[in-house]
Amino acid sequence: MKLYNSLTRSRDEFVPNEPGKVKMYTCGPTVYHYAHIGNLRTYIMEDVLDKYFRYSGYDVTRVMNITDVGHLSSDGDTGEDKMLKGAKRENKTVLEIAKFYTDAFFNDCEKLKIKTPEVVAPATTCIDDFISVISALIEKGYAYEAGGNIYFDTSKLSNYYVFNDFSEEDLEVGVREGVEEDSYKKNKTDFVLWFTRSKFEDQELKWDSPWGVGYPGWHIECSCISMKHLGETLDVHCGGIDNAFPHHTNEIAQSEAYLGHKWCNYWFHVRHLNTSSGKMSKSKGEFLTVSLLEEKGYDPLVYRYFCLQSHYRKSLVFSWENLDNAAAAYNKLVKRIASVKDEGEINADDFAKYKKAFTDALDNDLNTSLAVTALYDVIKADISGKTKLALIEDFDKVLSIGLIDAAKKLSVDSTGAEAASNDPEAARIEALLNERAEAKKAKNYSRADEIRAQLLSEGIVITDTPQGAKWERK
Ligand code: AMP
Ligand code: ZN
Repeated sequence: MKLYNSLTRSRDEFVPNEPGKVKMYTCGPTVYHYAHIGNLRTYIMEDVLDKYFRYSGYDVTRVMNITDVGHLSSDGDTGEDKMLKGAKRENKTVLEIAKFYTDAFFNDCEKLKIKTPEVVAPATTCIDDFISVISALIEKGYAYEAGGNIYFDTSKLSNYYVFNDFSEEDLEVGVREGVEEDSYKKNKTDFVLWFTRSKFEDQELKWDSPWGVGYPGWHIECSCISMKHLGETLDVHCGGIDNAFPHHTNEIAQSEAYLGHKWCNYWFHVRHLNTSSGKMSKSKGEFLTVSLLEEKGYDPLVYRYFCLQSHYRKSLVFSWENLDNAAAAYNKLVKRIASVKDEGEINADDFAKYKKAFTDALDNDLNTSLAVTALYDVIKADISGKTKLALIEDFDKVLSIGLIDAAKKLSVDSTGAEAASNDPEAARIEALLNERAEAKKAKNYSRADEIRAQLLSEGIVITDTPQGAKWERK
């Protein structure tokens, strides 16, 4: 398999450290708010990578942190702790906020069929591990104490900027517009490993340490959690592209300084989901969530399908129109699968031929849109129904868009609809549902809501599904 590696800036053949095994690390969410669908694009594409490794026969161990402390408003070391910001916004404690949004995150993941990693570690449960690595970094001369904080000394490294597609000046956190410079740092690029001197005296979570009561920096969390569960070498490290600098650059700096050797071989970065007004971000306050998609009648798996249609290394523009197109294509796909007859025998040669087209696509730097094309080719192919269904089920182990289940459900529902077609009352309701669907398409949400309310007043409840609205009497 060829995979683009941000470290070498080339598509490299993927060779894990230990044959047959893949150690994978994923930067987890900062749980101060709901994950937006941009964050989830990253987790969907990482899930495809994880599942494709497994599909190819690797034994994968994947670890993810939960950032529940230490991630400040700027990805550098200034601003307020995001968790504290969330707690103040909702008048709750940091731990209540962390629990609520961690649960919400995994709930969204389940709806998008994103597998939970083998290990999920909240940063607040690993404080002793951070302290032990920071102590070793001080001992080895890579870290220093200044003004109460412990900093990593980037001048001790011959090559700090491993992800330096930008000029050094652009990357320096200290000189970014609107970011206050920390006068205690020896070098502008030094970063905090442990804070005791917080400008925010109300920092809720603090722990005792050899350097005083305080809390860890964000970057040290991922290095320590990865090393704790995956050992001294890592095959693949994943994250959104915004994490490449400074977060991943700092992770490499401190992990390799601590270990004394190379740490991670492949860096997998997913480009952003943007809207017409720019990058979707939690800090902007306004963003789209899985729940919002559901409220508007979209199946979360339509969003997953939308993501699969484009390459992870290209930024993706979200618009309702694009999502509507994906929904229409997904529904059509499910209908076509529902019409495949479960007949004939599985032909091994046909199976191998079409499977090869699918694996060729994914072996080519995880080209999911070509993999989806391979799926369409199966549906069109002149092969037995049984072979088609076996291939679709096989591909869906990686794509995870619930194709077979959705097709089965569609067959059951359409039998029900046929029975209803002789009933004039059912026909009247169906006509109203069609009018509502048209109104939604024309963005006439008030008419759509009016129809829902009218039916509800008659005791008829509407549920939106990927195959359209369904109704039942309560
Ligand atoms: P956070 O919860 O902010 O720590 O981010 C969680 C993950 O989402 C990280 O891997 C980020 O790099 C990624 N991410 C943030 N914004 C976007 C976006 N607009 N599109 C895709 N990924 C994103
Ligand atoms: Zn991380």
